[in-house]
Amino acid sequence: MSHPVATPSQQPPLACCLLPRVVGARHTRREEASDDCCRRHRPARVPQEPPARGPAPRRDEGLLPHLEPIALTFKQVLYERDAPIPHLYFPAGGVVSLLITMDDGAAIEVATIGNEGLVGLAAVLGVEVSTERAIVQIAGDALRMEADVVARAIRSGSPTHDLLLRYAQALMMSLAQTAACNRLHPMEERCARWLLQTHDRVRSDAFPLTHAFLAQMLGVRRATVTVAAGMLQQAGLIRYSRGVVTIVDRPGLEAASCACYRLIQARFDRLLG
Ligand SMILES: [Zn+2]
Repeated sequence: MSHPVATPSQQPPLACCLLPRVVGARHTRREEASDDCCRRHRPARVPQEPPARGPAPRRDEGLLPHLEPIALTFKQVLYERDAPIPHLYFPAGGVVSLLITMDDGAAIEVATIGNEGLVGLAAVLGVEVSTERAIVQIAGDALRMEADVVARAIRSGSPTHDLLLRYAQALMMSLAQTAACNRLHPMEERCARWLLQTHDRVRSDAFPLTHAFLAQMLGVRRATVTVAAGMLQQAGLIRYSRGVVTIVDRPGLEAASCACYRLIQARFDRLLG
């Protein structure tokens, strides 16, 4: 089965989101008020926490020429566990999962990364090999940069260092919250959280998704996911057909999710907003 890009974006991929802060490009008001921008930066829908203390992180415009546009394809492995991380990826419309893999081949998703973040952070923090596998969950646009370029810039005092540290903290927070969520919250609420997080990162209400893939992402059996997704569909919150899920009732899906969705989003905004 082929998995198309969720929605091909014609505009320059600098529209979103962590990347503009790293290299100096800015959102325009038009982008923030339109579908050109991700949902996270549309007019405030989520109550904002007060910003973190301290000066706003500075940007490093010197990194801009090193960006390379790339198309992320479904199930593309960006890097493997115990392997070097050659590039940092800034997804613009695609979504990447970080998976912890066990020696017996079992795997579970510990984080999803879209336009709010970057993939390969460990490489710029001085870690030589990855502890997880990064795999493309939803195809889409991205920009990438050689990890060595960013690492050298940071060693030379790049002003983006503070921002990357804040992102590291936000990602750790997300990992911890997701671990607790996977252990404590009901399957249908976790399923709703996952769908909302993915919906935030793609530029479409419909995106490709198989039950088998979602089961791997949530670390449960496929039958369990089928029941949970069926409940959401029966409630009229999503529609699922031929490997494509459509978000039908976004507010309803938010109400069906555990609190982890809003908590993670609010903390991200506090650290990086
Ligand atoms: Zn939860």
